[in-house]
Amino acid sequence: MLVRDELEQLMELQHIDDQLRELEDSKVYLPDMISKIEIELAGWKEKLEAAVKGHEDLSREKKHFELEIEVAQAELQKSQDKMKSIKTNKEYDALTTQITASKDKISALEENLLQTMEAIDKVKEEMSEYKSKHEELDKSNKELLQNLRREIDLIGEKIQRKADERKNIKIRISPRTISHYERVQRGKGGVAVVAVKRKSCGGCHKQLPPQMVQEIKRGDRLLTCDSCGRILLWIGDESQ
Ligand SMILES: [Zn+2]
Repeated sequence: MLVRDELEQLMELQHIDDQLRELEDSKVYLPDMISKIEIELAGWKEKLEAAVKGHEDLSREKKHFELEIEVAQAELQKSQDKMKSIKTNKEYDALTTQITASKDKISALEENLLQTMEAIDKVKEEMSEYKSKHEELDKSNKELLQNLRREIDLIGEKIQRKADERKNIKIRISPRTISHYERVQRGKGGVAVVAVKRKSCGGCHKQLPPQMVQEIKRGDRLLTCDSCGRILLWIGDESQ
């Protein structure tokens, strides 16, 4: 096999390995993306539920104050009715005290009722804000979430397909070259074949001797970088 052809196969192998690495990474980052969206959705839902609960509590409180006001008003009415038939000064004084007490009680209860109603208005605003935030987020991410889940389902199949392609390429490269390739790959974060860029190694950026650049360009010999060991390829260099 011509070195030039072998170099092409190596480039293809590197390409497949890059895709495999990307697929492996996606096993982590795709679920991460999903859980970030889900956490945000759950956050708005939690806030909404807390506001709904707050609204229920406040509504109960409101009803309670309304009932107490009714009772106090009935008491006041009773005292005022009695006022029409009093016979002694002592009775009058006692009733007046009672009426004043009832009126004070009613106004205190009305103040409480007012505060509760204001709190209800506030919590209602919060409820509609959180509800729309949740709905917006849910709507805008629905398609994305579906796509991400579909992507995750396909990872295994894609990896299998790439692994098959890898096997087919691998058998066309000499075992010596493969073993060099795989050794460098393990040491260099998966990248063993790089293109010459600006007369330097595309992996470690070490400047290459001009004569070596010419040799790589010819492609009749497999050359590796002195500094990082990566296999060097010529795929055109804008600076040449
Ligand atoms: Zn290098």
